[in-house]
Amino acid sequence: MNRAFRVLAATTAAALSLSLAACGGSDSSDSADGAGGSLLANIEAGKVTLGTKFDQPGLGLREPDGSMTGLDVDVATYVVNSIAKDNGWAEPEITWRETPSAQRETLISNGEVDMITATYSINKSRAESVNFGGPYLLTHQALLIQDANTDINGLDDLDGKILCSVSGSTPAQKVKDALPGVQLQEYDTYSSCVEALRQGNVDALTTDATILGGYAAQSPGTFKLVELEKDGEPFTNEYYGIGLKKDDAAGTEAINKALQAMYDDGSFDKFVDENIDGGTGVTKETPGDLSFLEK
Ligand code: GLU
Repeated sequence: MNRAFRVLAATTAAALSLSLAACGGSDSSDSADGAGGSLLANIEAGKVTLGTKFDQPGLGLREPDGSMTGLDVDVATYVVNSIAKDNGWAEPEITWRETPSAQRETLISNGEVDMITATYSINKSRAESVNFGGPYLLTHQALLIQDANTDINGLDDLDGKILCSVSGSTPAQKVKDALPGVQLQEYDTYSSCVEALRQGNVDALTTDATILGGYAAQSPGTFKLVELEKDGEPFTNEYYGIGLKKDDAAGTEAINKALQAMYDDGSFDKFVDENIDGGTGVTKETPGDLSFLEK
């Protein structure tokens, strides 16, 4: 699928932010960092805590100087600023919080983050504990292998192979369900899987093509992407959503309105161009339309 991704500043496992969210308060508007209440109340109060990945180049990356880059960072920033503007509020101050795959629902439910934009696929089981705005893009599960590897060209070649993915992710679950012959190693972050692949400790890394393209671009000539198909269709559909507190209908609606504005004014195309070279492989979706969950 020829996804060449812009090379972003190399960083491996970003240090987990240890700054504890000041939470526990039930009143949203006076919590110190914005987390703890409803998304809209915290935007109005001027402070929001946004969850994303810190180690995924092109999507969510904490740079060595502490600044944040990536498509998910740009989308989340646009969304909260657009909601603020719509309501006549000032742009809120943003605190970024690292939200690893397995912790996302918990961090939302605990009120430690106001919303999460972190390569977060919408699915039924997650939607039982959190609300989702979006979808705002569609990607598919793929493989990353060493550039010199010629053995692995698709699903049929994975039997007996050692595959790395991240606990709590949809790709890890789908491998377990569909490919019992695979030895799956689950790490906490994709950047640790990339190091295992670099060392030759695993044969392949599996997750969304968007994420793998970012790692391939980070180490030119080292890795390559393999698309996964089943019966001529993509092996999986990963519809990215924005997670927020369960049953926050007003917040969800505001996010969807902001996402539509982001598509309509050309901002999404710009974010894709700036973060993911040429935008190849990323499909726009209809915010608010979750009918794919029934398929
Ligand atoms: N989009 C998939 C998921 O939400 C994989 C990426 C990730 O783990 O963040 O599980």
